[in-house]
Amino acid sequence: MSTQTLKAPRGTFDILPDSATRREEVERVAREVLEAAGYGRIETPAFEATELFSRTVGEATDIVQKEMYTFPDAGGRSLTLRPEGTAPVCRAYVEHGMHKLPAPVKLYYVSSFFRYERAQAGRYRQFWQVGAEALGSHDPAIDAESIVLAHTLLDRLGARGLRLRLASLGSPAARSEYRVELQTYLRGKSDDLSDEVRRRIELNPLRAFDSDDPGTQRVMAGAPRLLDRLTPEDADHFYEVQALLMQAGVAFEIDPTLVRGLDYYTRTLFEFTSDALGAQSGVGGGGRYDGLVAALGGPPTPGIGWAAGVERILLAADAPPSPPPALDLFVAHDAARSQAFGTLLEARRAGLRAQMETTGRSLKGQLKHAERLGARYVAIVAADGIQLKDHRAATQEPVAFGQLIERLAATP
Ligand code: AMP
Repeated sequence: MSTQTLKAPRGTFDILPDSATRREEVERVAREVLEAAGYGRIETPAFEATELFSRTVGEATDIVQKEMYTFPDAGGRSLTLRPEGTAPVCRAYVEHGMHKLPAPVKLYYVSSFFRYERAQAGRYRQFWQVGAEALGSHDPAIDAESIVLAHTLLDRLGARGLRLRLASLGSPAARSEYRVELQTYLRGKSDDLSDEVRRRIELNPLRAFDSDDPGTQRVMAGAPRLLDRLTPEDADHFYEVQALLMQAGVAFEIDPTLVRGLDYYTRTLFEFTSDALGAQSGVGGGGRYDGLVAALGGPPTPGIGWAAGVERILLAADAPPSPPPALDLFVAHDAARSQAFGTLLEARRAGLRAQMETTGRSLKGQLKHAERLGARYVAIVAADGIQLKDHRAATQEPVAFGQLIERLAATP
């Protein structure tokens, strides 16, 4: 066996206690914001049948073509580590007959996702998202509410330099007509397009708007826009969403070139970016997916949702690391293990945050360690009793076994 030390796989990271505290804060605020709006927590499995993603996210998308962790299990089924959360949530909605619940059904998650992407700052192969999905309403008010909730969450977590871009993809019929129009336009200019975009004219022409190739960008500046091809109903819906966002005081820019790497979106589409981030500036995004539940075999059910990346939120917030949790009591001892352990248990039962010495430090070393841990009290335990040091009052006094909790309760 090689003695080379092993590292976490490329694009993954360990969450150590310092950063765990900040991540818990994200989860806590998400719970507060979303539960107040009627969202209930959902957790789906870390892996699903591969077909769930290839059918919904789209065969021609980057996610399905290049980024999925797909493997056969020992039973020969093709499974995929979830690359996103919306399709699994809709699968669960159908599987559990949630359409029978009063609409809208509102679900949120804080989970990890997996994509085989080029690892760089802010882009990982296992990453965490907070996501929220509302199923069962066409009303533009639920689009606006969903976007406002994402904004509230990002804002409360201190994400700096936020921008919201908004677009509408219209309904599938108008979109496929537009697709043909765009393909015709792109074929006419194919000499000026990047190889990649040219190759994808047939499969995924909309992604041309996403290209960073200068030639392609010049072509796209003159391309027909989906926003100009919306049906009157879709245009009205989009207009209503904008009006409600204005009413909520959430600023946005209309971006006719906004595309996202998933096929299931219809109508409203949005993305939050942060100027505080570098190349990977997307903090969160989402949209409407009115055909997704039906595509998964459920009754036709409209839906809207978003996901925001936990690592990106933390990068955009740049908050100082939180202080370690304070300690009420450190139990020091010099070979009186059993009495010390008893004191520790007693303190814990009384609801105190307590730790005891377990590494054989000298008494002096233990007192230093207690100070480092920020302990308010130190109980120096010997075979015949306890010396209680109060760091705040700078006092020390003897306490009999069994009297410690009472004594602590009596001090202010
Ligand atoms: P998407 O599901 O691609 O719309 O992504 C939604 C959000 O998840 C993005 O705005 C990012 O904040 C985050 N995200 C997506 N992919 C990654 C990744 N590979 N690493 C870290 N965060 C990601």
